[in-house]
Amino acid sequence: MQDVTPLKQLLAYPKQIVITTHHKPDGDAIGSSLGLYNYLIQKGHHVTVITPSDYPFFLQWLPNNTHVLVYPDHKDESARLIAEAELIFCLDFNTLKRIGDMGELVRAAEGKKVLIDHHLEPEDFDDYRYWSINACATAQLIYEFIALKMGEPELINKDVATCLYTGIMTDSGSFRFDTTTPDVHRIAADLIAAGAENSKIHALVYDNFSESRVRFIGYALLNKLEVFEEYKAAIISISKEELLRFNITTGDTEGLVNYALTINGIRLGALIIERPDMVKLSLRSTGDFPANEICKKYFNGGGHKNAAGGMSEKPLDEVINDFKRILPEYKTILIQ
Ligand code: 5GP
Ligand code: MN
Repeated sequence: MQDVTPLKQLLAYPKQIVITTHHKPDGDAIGSSLGLYNYLIQKGHHVTVITPSDYPFFLQWLPNNTHVLVYPDHKDESARLIAEAELIFCLDFNTLKRIGDMGELVRAAEGKKVLIDHHLEPEDFDDYRYWSINACATAQLIYEFIALKMGEPELINKDVATCLYTGIMTDSGSFRFDTTTPDVHRIAADLIAAGAENSKIHALVYDNFSESRVRFIGYALLNKLEVFEEYKAAIISISKEELLRFNITTGDTEGLVNYALTINGIRLGALIIERPDMVKLSLRSTGDFPANEICKKYFNGGGHKNAAGGMSEKPLDEVINDFKRILPEYKTILIQ
């Protein structure tokens, strides 16, 4: 879609609407979803946000968070809402695989599907699309959708602004990634002017950890970080047993991979975690190094150039070894 006219008409009268976002939602996923929710309810729509999985404690304070349905806890109700929805907004993901079991429910649903996203190569399942890989966050696209495409900047109230600011702040690494353009700062300024309390939001997201999470970070950096200077790469790997030992819950490992890149000279960081049903990889890189290519080629995943992810069904040790074996293939790009 970049032409939004049909949606403007569709949203002119109250509709049954579902908003969904990716598995293990992050700040942008929840911020975009609740930002759009808080906009649409002002227009009289009946809206439900359904997440395919739970999400971190430090994101559970956003305005109207209590109305979010977590699919595994409300399967029947979610299935009914998806089937009955006239419009389904799919935010911050590019393939229905990213919403697990809900993917087939959404695919089969009769409602019109709207994709708003900033990931590469979206799957063709949508009816309308507002998509740009140049956006630093899906929340930026939601801002543009409301303010520019729908022409309703006055509906960006404090609740909407708080959610969208959270999405932009988290996906831009607190305004430090190179996706942070002058426009991103201008949008952030508008959101603060509309009521987003920037300092408070930052503290709610980043200064809201449990003691065990902080100790876990210390443990991981001291004992689980392997640095491969010759490849300008570093790996942090975490086993199921370690997750249990430190009582790690959803979101507690978020941001850990970024520590790899804080080491002088390191250009590629990988966090490899043994989850109950698979091994999950999170990659981060700097400059032109395409972390998403490694994920796509070897780990059934994808993502952005500098932030990508994937998975493997092999045991943790094998995945770590696979990753190490892959490094020489990328040596020339990594050391340039
Ligand atoms: P994270 O490392 O924070 O889990 O994910 C970083 C980015 O990588 C996400 O924004 C998403 O674009 C991408 N990503 C993570 N896991 C997967 C995956 O399993 N498949 C795909 N296609 N992309 C992923
Ligand atoms: Mn995002």
